[in-house]
Amino acid sequence: MYYKIYENCNPAPKEIICKCGKVLIKMSNGKPRRVLECCCVDCYQHNEWASVMGGPNVPVIPTLSYWDNDIVVIRGEEHLKVVLLREDGRSKRTTATCCFSTLMVDHPYYSGVMFMLFEDACRVQQDEPDVPPTKTRPAESRIYLKDFDTSRGTLPEFRGDPTRVHQTCCPEYIKGWNRKSSPTLDNPSGEKIQALFERIPEMILGLDQGKRINNLKDCSPGYI
Ligand SMILES: [Zn+2]
Ligand SMILES: [Zn+2]
Repeated sequence: MYYKIYENCNPAPKEIICKCGKVLIKMSNGKPRRVLECCCVDCYQHNEWASVMGGPNVPVIPTLSYWDNDIVVIRGEEHLKVVLLREDGRSKRTTATCCFSTLMVDHPYYSGVMFMLFEDACRVQQDEPDVPPTKTRPAESRIYLKDFDTSRGTLPEFRGDPTRVHQTCCPEYIKGWNRKSSPTLDNPSGEKIQALFERIPEMILGLDQGKRINNLKDCSPGYI
């Protein structure tokens, strides 16, 4: 299933663009490694924070797509910052401060070979202009359902295999994906996001885990 579901995605390089268009990044492999829906409090908190800062609306459940870690920053690097939710936060989320779109996300679990994108928090090039990404790269699983709260909105029905809805992370088959995923990249044409992170500023938001961010007052002083 892992191999088949994204078989028809176009592997040509894809553009990642912030919502206002000032930042443009190209990734070398346009075929995702996987796509998930994640209900966890951290994904949601980052999206809420970015939204109150002027970024995109928060989806009821963020869709996360995972791609080969090989990029070229074409324009707008001066707008980029790495954002961590808290001092010991493990996810590093590239944020475009021009419009508070979120671009590439890193986590130690990705082992440096892939990065994650929130499909709703930036513009990821489509496989076909008239076909929405939910069709060409549908979510394979839904994880961390235990963190979902109805105050976020009505829980949308999961369109995939209902046995792939999970209370936490990660079921064995997702761990299996890591074994099947290439542990190295053949012939990279750009750089890894970790190289970009060494050049751009970092910002730690100092937010307690699970805290909801409804307006700027909910952000820690000095971090907005
Ligand atoms: Zn922007
Ligand atoms: Zn999450």
